[in-house]
Amino acid sequence: MEASRDFVYQKFCEYYRDPQTVIPLPPLPSQREFGYLMFKERFMVRHRRFETIRQLRSVLSDTIPSDVYHSIAYYENPDFDMDKKGWLGADLVFDIDADHLTTPCNKIHDEFTCTKCGFGGRGITPEICPCCEGTKFETKTWPCDVCIDTARQEAAKLLDMLEKDFGFSLDELRVFFSGHRGYHVHVESEAVHSLDAMARKEIVDYVTGLGLAVLEKAVKEKPGKSSARKFSLHNFGWNKRLKLGMQNFLLTASKEDLKAAGLKNPALLKNKEALINRCITEGRWESVSGVSGQTWLKLAEHVKDLESSKIDTVVTTDIHRLIRMNGTLHGKTGLMKMEFSAKDLQDFDPFARAVAFKKGTVKVLVSDIPEFRLGGETLGPYKNETKELPVAAAVLLICKGRAKVAN
Ligand SMILES: [Zn+2]
Ligand SMILES: [Zn+2]
Repeated sequence: MEASRDFVYQKFCEYYRDPQTVIPLPPLPSQREFGYLMFKERFMVRHRRFETIRQLRSVLSDTIPSDVYHSIAYYENPDFDMDKKGWLGADLVFDIDADHLTTPCNKIHDEFTCTKCGFGGRGITPEICPCCEGTKFETKTWPCDVCIDTARQEAAKLLDMLEKDFGFSLDELRVFFSGHRGYHVHVESEAVHSLDAMARKEIVDYVTGLGLAVLEKAVKEKPGKSSARKFSLHNFGWNKRLKLGMQNFLLTASKEDLKAAGLKNPALLKNKEALINRCITEGRWESVSGVSGQTWLKLAEHVKDLESSKIDTVVTTDIHRLIRMNGTLHGKTGLMKMEFSAKDLQDFDPFARAVAFKKGTVKVLVSDIPEFRLGGETLGPYKNETKELPVAAAVLLICKGRAKVAN
């Protein structure tokens, strides 16, 4: 193995062999499937069962994986083949990852290259290559503050829905920094265990605002004057979210915001107060001249996009999913997956708190990196420079393909 990977491997060894390292087990560990990716061999070991944290830790310190996972599902026989496991239920899990979010920065620091034909570009990695229809890409991403802030706002909307619309208490919602550039939310409550993939899809649709009945119904009944009368919003769930969202939008929107939303109607800005008081609050949607039912529908559609949470829908519907284990390292960053209280979402700083390697420095040759924060320090920008960096920063840069250990 080349020197840089070997350096990261040594650090992962130290982490998993340190008795001070905290690796909390998920609830009912003996009913979970565990899996891990071998650091050197790069293959995935699956279908492992551990009864105790001691067994697990001894395997981790012997094998030194780059990534560790456990099933969100509970099984009778977690170590059997998939079809013989005996599915007993599963946690409800949500994943929010800046990899799938449009951020103002992903055109700056994210790159992808199709491994088949070499087509490449900047921004979000496409699912299918537009040139050769290949589906495998080499990616170069970077977890920056803008990415993590974007993911955090999506997580905030999700938590708000889970609490207010679904009725979970904040204590039932376990929130984690993913170790890369996103968040995981786990609901481990008994009430969700037996939900099948279809039921989970319903929850996904709700959270993402897909097929919102109130909008679809109103659109179907167009055209004509009656459309707006059919557009009535009550004070719970998405109805309330649309009302508050439209109100906030009207209060804060600039001309440019309206344009971006495809709304060119100048009456929307001129008559803000009447629109909020008469239309949104009293439900008299066509009581302000110049603003038709169709305009309201368009605005509601736009607000739906703003208020929905951009979760990775595939993760939530997969009832056999493996999810990264709390307290283990992310192979792409060397940061820990780490739990924090749901009410601390806005204050929890992953780039300060989820740092696993707190001691020492190492000399690395950095190819190209924007300014970044880690472990309470601001570092960079660097371009083709040899630098003595804190170990955590060096591990992050090496894992991200942006640096090598200097000789
Ligand atoms: Zn291609
Ligand atoms: Zn970013």
